[in-house]
Amino acid sequence: MTKITGGCLCGAVRYESSGAQAMAGICQCVDCRKSSGAGHCAHMGVPEPGVSVSGPTTAYARAADSGHIVTRHFCATCGSALFSSNDAMPGMIFLRASSLDDPNVFVPQMVVYASRAPAWDRPGEGLPRFDTMPPGM
Ligand SMILES: [Zn+2]
Ligand SMILES: [Zn+2]
Repeated sequence: MTKITGGCLCGAVRYESSGAQAMAGICQCVDCRKSSGAGHCAHMGVPEPGVSVSGPTTAYARAADSGHIVTRHFCATCGSALFSSNDAMPGMIFLRASSLDDPNVFVPQMVVYASRAPAWDRPGEGLPRFDTMPPGM
C-alpha cells in the first residue's frame, strides 16, 4: 500500500506511516477544541511501529476526561498539531487528519464527545455519535 504522509505548516516536521488507518474518529472533547482552533479534532489511528517522524516537535501531556494521559505533539516552530498518543491505547499513534498531505485518506468512523460540540461545529453527518466515548473504549 502507499504510505500515509503528512507534516506541519512550515515544513520543518514531516512524518510517514507504513501502516494503514486502524481506527479513525472525530473528537469534540474540550481539550480537542482548545487545541485545534476549531470545534473538533480528527484523529487517525495507525500502528506506532510503522510511523517515522523527522524534525523537531514539542509535546504537551495532559490527563483526558477518562484519566488517561494524552500526549499531543506539535511543530516546535509553527505550532501545527501533528499527532498524539494515549496511554490507554499503547502501540497506536493518532495522526491529526488536518496534517495529512492528502486529508481524504482519513475516513472517520464515529464522532466522540458529541455532547461537548459547539452549536457551530457538527461534523461527521451520518456517522455514529457518542456523548462521550463508545462503551468499552
Ligand atoms: Zn512547522
Ligand atoms: Zn478529544
